[in-house]
This record gives sequence, C-alpha cells and structure tokens, in this order.
Amino acid sequence: MIDIENNIAEIKSKIQQLATKKALAPTHHSANSVTLIAVSKKQSAEAINKAISAGQKHFAENYLQEAELKMKELSHSLLVWHFIGSIQSNKTRVLAEKFDWVHTVERLKIAQRLSAHRIDNAQEPLNICLQVNIDKDPAKSGVFPEECKVLAKEVHQLPGICLRGLMTIPRNNPETSKIRESFAAMKHLFEEVKQHLNNPYFDSLSMGMSGDWQIAIEEGATMIRIGTAIFGQR
Ligand SMILES: *Cc1c(COP(=O)(O)O)cnc(C)c1O
Repeated sequence: MIDIENNIAEIKSKIQQLATKKALAPTHHSANSVTLIAVSKKQSAEAINKAISAGQKHFAENYLQEAELKMKELSHSLLVWHFIGSIQSNKTRVLAEKFDWVHTVERLKIAQRLSAHRIDNAQEPLNICLQVNIDKDPAKSGVFPEECKVLAKEVHQLPGICLRGLMTIPRNNPETSKIRESFAAMKHLFEEVKQHLNNPYFDSLSMGMSGDWQIAIEEGATMIRIGTAIFGQR
C-alpha cells in the first residue's frame, strides 16, 4: 500500500534535515528554502486529494489535456500548478491560462507566445524557468548552458513573463558523483545568469526527482519535483 500522506511527511522532514545541515556548514553555500512539487502525472484526482490533505500545494503535470481534466475536478483555489512537459506552440494559450509556472521553456518563440497570452487574458506575469540541457544529452531537451544567458536576457524582457530561474534533468547515471557534478554545474550557471540579469525575482533552481533529490538539494536546488517517491510507480 502506498501511503501518500506519510511519503510527503517523510520527504518534508528530510528536506528540513538537509536544510539544517547546510545552514550549519559555513563552507557550503547558504541554506535556501526548498519547495516540494508533487508530480501528479498519471495520478488520479483521488491520489492528488490525499496529497492535498497532507498539506501539499504545489503540483506538476506533463500532459496538458490530462492536467485540464484534473484541474476541473479539483478546483482548489490554493493549489499552485506547474507545467513540466514538452511544449507544443499551438498549446501555449491554454498553458498560459491554466498554469502558474512553466519549467520547460527552451525557445524564445514559446516564451513570446506565453507572454502574449497572459497579457491577452489580463493575468499576472507567468512564472517561467528555462530548461537547460546541462549534460548536452541528445536524449534531453533544453538550451545548452552557453546559450542560456542570451535566452534569459530575451525572456526577461517579455512583459507577460516573470523569469524565475532554471530547470534541469541530468543525464541518467548509475554513478551519483556524475549527477552531483551536473547539479553543481547548474548551480554555477544559475548564479552566473542571476548576476547577468540583475533580476530580484530570479530565485529558483528546479532540479531533483525521486532518485536524486537529496543530492540536488545539497547542490543548491530550491524546487524539487517528486512523483514516484510520493505516489508510487506510474
Ligand atoms: C515525471 C517527472 C518528474 C518526476 O519523476 P519521478 O522520478 O517520478 O520523481 C520530475 N520532473 C519531470 C520533468 C518529469 O517529467
């Protein structure tokens, strides 16, 4: 039996432990707060409701149609919805309308469309993370690290967008030291882009999934995206 409430409580307490450890280690970068995002793709509204009763507010979905159906069923005004799937340009209107955050922007054209739709709808600027292909893995999406600054500057100018940070999925690797290197490289890039933009809202580093989130937090993640470790296998 999967105990969703208990899984969330355990992850939260571990996050707390990791944050305390970081705060006590003066040589390490300062502790930052970490937002737990529950990845609810392929999970039922019932499962999501269990997570909500455990105090969970942030949810992420990969598939737009599936997400829309669940949002209708749940319609809790306090939930925060994150989109973490690949973006088709003909779906940007609905994305901009329904989601609070989009983590997977990798092209200016998509960002421009999202911005325009937010303005059409008279909504607050949409929170965006740029997806970075930190390992230049041909199987992964995202901008290459060296393209990130230029794209960030362009996206930052868009009136319907609030550029919040960077997101990544590192290359699968049985050696956790390699995954740690990728996360550390992301943290470095994040600080570089932040300095380049001089944007106080640029505060989010979205990295870490069920298998590697503790390493991600140690290396500076501020948002972790957890599916399986909360809801069980999809
Ligand atoms: C599915 C997914 C996750 C969650 O993965 P788990 O391994 O189940 O925690 C996180 N991020 C993205 C982008 C995903 O597609």
